[in-house]
Amino acid sequence: MRVAIAGAGLAGLSSAKYLTDAGHTPVVLESRDVLGGLVAAWKDADGDWYETGLHIFFGAYPNILQLFKELGIEDRLQWKQHTMIFNQPEKPGTYSRFDFPDLPAPFNGIVAILRNNDMLTWGEKLQLAKGLVPAMLRGQKYVEQTDKYTFSEWLKRQGVSEEVQQDIFIAASKSLNFINPDEISAVVLLTALRAFLQEKNGSKMAFLDGSPTERLCSPLVDYITARGGEVRLKAPLKEILLNEDGTVRGFLIRGLDGAEDEVLKADAYISAIPVDPLKVILPSPWQQMEFFQKLEGLEGVPVINLQLWFDRKLTEIDQLLFSRSSLLSVYADMSNTCSGYADPERSMLELVLAPAKDWISKSDEEILQITLAELEKLFPAHFGQDNPAKLLKYHVVKTPRSVYKAIPGCQECRPSQKTPIPNFYLAGSYTMQRYLGSMEGAVLSGKLTAQAIAEALSVGNSSSLQMQTLQSATNAATA
Ligand SMILES: Cc1cc2nc3c(=O)[nH]c(=O)nc-3n(C[C@H](O)[C@H](O)[C@H](O)COP(=O)(O)OP(=O)(O)OC[C@H]3O[C@@H](n4cnc5c(N)ncnc54)[C@H](O)[C@@H]3O)c2cc1C
Repeated sequence: MRVAIAGAGLAGLSSAKYLTDAGHTPVVLESRDVLGGLVAAWKDADGDWYETGLHIFFGAYPNILQLFKELGIEDRLQWKQHTMIFNQPEKPGTYSRFDFPDLPAPFNGIVAILRNNDMLTWGEKLQLAKGLVPAMLRGQKYVEQTDKYTFSEWLKRQGVSEEVQQDIFIAASKSLNFINPDEISAVVLLTALRAFLQEKNGSKMAFLDGSPTERLCSPLVDYITARGGEVRLKAPLKEILLNEDGTVRGFLIRGLDGAEDEVLKADAYISAIPVDPLKVILPSPWQQMEFFQKLEGLEGVPVINLQLWFDRKLTEIDQLLFSRSSLLSVYADMSNTCSGYADPERSMLELVLAPAKDWISKSDEEILQITLAELEKLFPAHFGQDNPAKLLKYHVVKTPRSVYKAIPGCQECRPSQKTPIPNFYLAGSYTMQRYLGSMEGAVLSGKLTAQAIAEALSVGNSSSLQMQTLQSATNAATA
């Protein structure tokens, strides 16, 4: 059966991949001339890649890890030492580490926390344990109920002091959803903490060995097209055309560069576009339906990614760093962490600026200058002296609406992949799955959508068998 999919981000590509596995023929329509959506990357005039965002893969991402295996590209994930490294703003240029020993979970996490004495006093550790441990033990059902609180509110209710929040959770909150603990839903941090503390390698991190567009999205497209599917760039979904009964008659594709608009007909249709453009494109009869009205509660959050090339090495650290700056979130020297960008002589820093609401409309030059000022605190040995490091070039990528802003009450608004329209489905990291707005969430949402469609279309014995295989893989991954 033919399935039309709008959006070639990880969710759209993952749904197409798993639909081909179940014997169907997907046609993916992407509005831009680049694959990957929020993981998209471009080559500049010098042949250097620049990305939409610094992306980290975690041990607690079963569906992504399985996808890499299925594509035969596992070796592209570069696993780092199991540690979390934080800058110490009060001692510029120094770091505090949480090193996870080779012990089963949760003991490795507990030891990592107990051994760190720079960021938490013994009193704070006790306070934190008293607040967090019961929440961890009470399970995901309890965690889901905390969606009525911001993380700050929840910590306060648990009797955890403001200092602990300042020390660790601002950095964690910014890295997970590009906002601060006084805005983010408690669900996000508690879900992440559960995954990190319950699985031995849950918080272990990997970098891709190059740009996600080339090293992850292209193999997905090869896999899809080798099995009869199609991926079309510069093919924006303009309108969802309806039959009289309110089901989908076709996807209207906007003709670009003077070409005519075109209608694509299929047996089933998927929107894998972000929630913000979906709300704009929803056919008016659907806008009255409660299922789609809830989407109003979801909105993409702004974020900015910078890549800066320097004339020298600023650090040898081969890991993600939590800046603990009010301007920046996480960063990494990609010349150390990523073999595709390796350079033994010069650093290439990739940094995430968040929260970005006050910066998203500023010029690239203004964003660069404020970031450089921040680097004086992160790398005091290389800036602000007689012979400061020289910036060779830079790229700033602004995303005014990225992943959904996970504020309290959002869980209730996240839709299932199946909609009330029998031949129309949703995929995207904003749709309901347990991995929130992440690459893992996007891939899992695509898999769940493919599963729902394969169930509905159920085409003959052999693909039913493949569908069962897909279903058991999904069950394993979501258990
Ligand atoms: C700066 C940054 C850092 C991040 N870091 C991490 C990280 O470290 N780890 C992690 O797990 N996640 C991270 N994420 C989140 C992760 O990138 C996303 O959750 C995931 O990629 C979302 O995938 P998606 O397919 O749901 O949506 P998207 O990637 O938004 O894909 C939607 C696609 O639809 C296309 N589209 C839009 N309108 C139309 C239309 N009308 N017709 C056709 N196509 C259309 C878009 O162009 C896009 O390609 C980060 C995100 C950002 C921005």
